Amino acid sequence: MAATRSIGDGDVLIVVDIQNDFCPDGALAVPHGDDVVPIVNRLAREFSNVVLTQDWHPPGHLSFASSHRGRSPYETIIAPYGPQVLWPDHCVQGTSGAAFHESLDIPHAGLVVRKGIDRAIDSYSALYENDRTTPTGLAGYLRERGMRRLFLAGLAFDFCVRYSAEDAMREGFTVFVIEDACRGIDVDGSVAATHAMFAALRIPCIASEALAES
Ligand SMILES: [Zn+2]
Repeated sequence: MAATRSIGDGDVLIVVDIQNDFCPDGALAVPHGDDVVPIVNRLAREFSNVVLTQDWHPPGHLSFASSHRGRSPYETIIAPYGPQVLWPDHCVQGTSGAAFHESLDIPHAGLVVRKGIDRAIDSYSALYENDRTTPTGLAGYLRERGMRRLFLAGLAFDFCVRYSAEDAMREGFTVFVIEDACRGIDVDGSVAATHAMFAALRIPCIASEALAES
């Protein structure tokens, strides 16, 4: 195993939005989203540092198509902070849809970051809300704890994983995306756009096998 892939104290696994609503039969199902659960469970055992993110919206959230008269899911609107894709109602605070998948088994996770909690702004990224300027506080947490390399897994590859990776790189962290531990939703070519963006930013997509215990 390459030395750079040996997992240590400065490394953290960020597990993005593995919640019922993003899994099959959920309100905003990512195709085969639940396939990542056993992969992520296995990966998490390699890390002493794990952070979970949880999409966590109040009712009537701006990202819901139902909040905009005459609008349908997957249309894009111009919000005060820029373009915003509209989604079916999902991950409403306290609902079973917002709960983590029941088979997600990472009891040693040290932090759960809830995002999208402000009714008037969405948050794909675990580090910044969709205005790209309002921090969630995660970058500060990671820095204070001495974590420098972020390994990202979860849902959806082309939205919350993508924006988390971009923001983490922008914040000066070293970033890897564990591609087989992600699944995409693919709205208007968003999976291809994500691959192109990762290539442009030199964010490597790696396989979970590369992190198997040496
Ligand atoms: Zn959401």
